[in-house]
Amino acid sequence: MSSAALDILPMSSWIDTDGKPLIIAGPCSAETEEQVWETATQIKAGGYAHVIRAGVWKPRTRPGSFEGMGEAALPWLQAVKKETGLPIAIEVATPQHVELALKYGIDILWIGARTTVNPFNVQDLADSLVGVDVPVLIKNPVNPDLQLWIGALERMNRAGIKKLGAIHRGFSNAQENKFRNSPMWQIAIELKTQFPDLPMIGDPSHMAGKRAYLYEIAQRALDLNYDGLIIESHRDPDKAWSDASQQLTPAALGDMLHELQIRKRSYGDDYQNQLENIRAKIDNLDREMLETLAARMSLVEKLAEYKRDNNVAAYQVDRFRQVLETRSGWGKSLNLYDNLVDEMFKLIHMESIRKQTEVMNNVSA
Ligand code: PEP
Ligand code: MN
Repeated sequence: MSSAALDILPMSSWIDTDGKPLIIAGPCSAETEEQVWETATQIKAGGYAHVIRAGVWKPRTRPGSFEGMGEAALPWLQAVKKETGLPIAIEVATPQHVELALKYGIDILWIGARTTVNPFNVQDLADSLVGVDVPVLIKNPVNPDLQLWIGALERMNRAGIKKLGAIHRGFSNAQENKFRNSPMWQIAIELKTQFPDLPMIGDPSHMAGKRAYLYEIAQRALDLNYDGLIIESHRDPDKAWSDASQQLTPAALGDMLHELQIRKRSYGDDYQNQLENIRAKIDNLDREMLETLAARMSLVEKLAEYKRDNNVAAYQVDRFRQVLETRSGWGKSLNLYDNLVDEMFKLIHMESIRKQTEVMNNVSA
């Protein structure tokens, strides 16, 4: 589907980052006045953040979880803004949220992943923002549908919002995955390719789900020339009322940001940038091929455990023949060179056998 251009203002028109990536930091949720105050003042003291974030209304997957403090938290954020001088960003999901956010002087709004999926909700939000001059950041929808993401950006833009940005927070997993939400980088890259002026902000927290993965995801986003990062930080992460395992203390966040390498590159339509853009897509696909291969190998391991426990041989000729035949047919229908597919699967199969033999020679636990 072709896409009309978005009429947007550059990020520098609504936030001064001195040419560096925009850093938005703060707790997943505003829990108490002290928690918000301590977290935000520690972030401010770290000197790395341009914006403080906090969730005031929390969309929770299951009922019975903490659903946010609502309006009561807004004066806490106002106080933090006054103290730190940093603009405040919160999630809005209904026109009532928008009204309250504006009433309490919230500076930046974001639309959450569970809202972006629903054009009715997005349109309601867009209608409530007509005539309002506030930056709006739109998270990708939970499902990997680029058109829905674009549609939400267009709805906001048609309502007159020109201070617009995208937040890439990853996509829900159908299968077990290392990350809480799969990055599927190519979707964000495609958005950036279609709208080169649209600021792209990475959300490593919601992709990772675990502190241990934040760094690699944040670095990847910077390698892809993202315009900023939004990262959750809590004064006492393990005691957070939501998303405890993915939050960092303000000090740990400062350390992590310090370790990240910022590469200077800009997207545009000149030859070099086109080349970079295509290379980024190729790098990304290669990485995903390897991730798929690793997922395949872990299934092979499971298979081997099953065979071992049931005393079945690792290698079965019929199965191998069937693997080669089906893959060769799939390859043909994708216009891939016969030989490439055959050789690749011979290698993969050889490695599978090696792996299975290894597992089967280990005694069952
Ligand atoms: C959040 O930022 O805390 C949040 C709820 O994010 P998402 O909409 O990406 O799930
Ligand atoms: Mn969160």
